[in-house]
Amino acid sequence: MTSYAIVGGGISGLSAAWQLSAEPGVEVTVFEADARLGGKIATERFGGVDIDLGADNVLRRTPAAVELCREVGLATDALIHPAQTRAKVWVENALRPLPAGTVLGFPVDLAAVEASGVLSAEGLRRAALEPTLPGLPIVGDVSLGELARARYGDEVTTRLIDPLLGGIAAGDLDRMSLDAIAPQIAEVAHTATSLIEGLAPVLAAAQQAGPVFAAPPHGMQQLVKALTARLVDRGVRFETGAALDSLPSADGVVVATPALAAARLLRPVSPPVASALDAIEHTSVVFVVTEYAEGDVAVPLDGSGFLVPRQVGAPVTAVSWASSKWERLRQPGTVLLRSSLGHRDADDVIDASDDAIIAAVQTAHRRTMGIDTPPRRVRIVRYRDAFPQYDVGHLDRIAALDESLLRDAPHVALCGMAFGGVGIPACIRRARTEAGRLHRRVAG
Ligand SMILES: Cc1cc2nc3c(=O)[nH]c(=O)nc-3n(C[C@H](O)[C@H](O)[C@H](O)COP(=O)(O)OP(=O)(O)OC[C@H]3O[C@@H](n4cnc5c(N)ncnc54)[C@H](O)[C@@H]3O)c2cc1C
Repeated sequence: MTSYAIVGGGISGLSAAWQLSAEPGVEVTVFEADARLGGKIATERFGGVDIDLGADNVLRRTPAAVELCREVGLATDALIHPAQTRAKVWVENALRPLPAGTVLGFPVDLAAVEASGVLSAEGLRRAALEPTLPGLPIVGDVSLGELARARYGDEVTTRLIDPLLGGIAAGDLDRMSLDAIAPQIAEVAHTATSLIEGLAPVLAAAQQAGPVFAAPPHGMQQLVKALTARLVDRGVRFETGAALDSLPSADGVVVATPALAAARLLRPVSPPVASALDAIEHTSVVFVVTEYAEGDVAVPLDGSGFLVPRQVGAPVTAVSWASSKWERLRQPGTVLLRSSLGHRDADDVIDASDDAIIAAVQTAHRRTMGIDTPPRRVRIVRYRDAFPQYDVGHLDRIAALDESLLRDAPHVALCGMAFGGVGIPACIRRARTEAGRLHRRVAG
């Protein structure tokens, strides 16, 4: 019998458990500090509905999450898709539609970008120069900000690319790694002479690809529940309320905690890996769910929500119009909003009082949607050190870290948000891959 211990019962740890428990002759135990499993995935009763307090959908393009849903019995045809997919952006004191003709905010179809009204005439003229500029293809990793500014100018960067990509991990575009954060853009930047031309087939493929996002019909926690139930069926043991301060003893160990906790666990077996994990900067965010009466909102909520460019200087970085986005959250006369606060250069909101956070959210809601009344119901969630930052050179640093771990502690595997992508599908993919490799090393 080969014994495995998994530290961390978020989606990474549970996915590693799923991979390992499929093997014959194994004994798997998951240790989770919290009383409940799921980590940053949490769905909670709010008013009359079950609302996601963090992630509310997964990208379909990286298929690992949709595949896992199918494997644990959530048939993929039962997965739901947002009813509203078009987001807006707060530009020049108005909500304007994010243009359709972009890949992750990088303009491809300039006519579509012009039609959105997001860019000034000058901003459009600058973007249109892109195919004529020297400088591509590039060699090696650069920051997304550097690439975006050089190719399209400041306005496209601050109004389109920064809100979309900087928003993903509450990051700073000028430090974020092109190769790690946007591989589709990177592939073109490393091979083509123009992004507009090189991204055209990528945009065309995306437009044919069907819904971008999917979610279980009752919220993301449903995936955690289904997965946990199947793991129990397979004999996996769970120890909740178990905050470990050292690696558990087992033939193989998967560390699936956030990176800063992993650094503490791994220091005795690999000081270089611990130092590399400690060096990854993290950003804290606050997430606020609010309920209003429909009549309190002065603008049509005809989209999935909106992004606020960093330059606006508002603590609120995005608002999801949850009850427009999801059919299942619609209730007559009620509007549900999910607002995100905090980014890399301003994440001290995590230490603000509830009153200060609510006041900031109300100010943003008043300014952008004309909401003059206090919310009828509020839920505040603080995610301290939530988002690992993928700075330029991230992929090389992770490759070096993986190599050190393999040398220093071959019986340990490492997974989580800090390595191969911050979203759920990327976490699942890394967890399953690393757990599979660990099994081959340990039981080989
Ligand atoms: C506000 C927000 C919105 C998001 N939205 C999306 C989205 O829409 N789509 C998407 O794909 N992704 C989204 N994400 C990212 C997604 O939530 C994460 O990628 C994913 O949940 C990370 O899972 P994980 O298991 O790696 O880490 P976690 O969920 O952080 O799990 C780690 C677990 O380890 C436990 N732990 C820590 N230390 C110890 C210890 N010493 N001993 C035992 N256990 C320990 C923790 O309690 C935790 O349960 C969002 C994240 C946030 C914060």
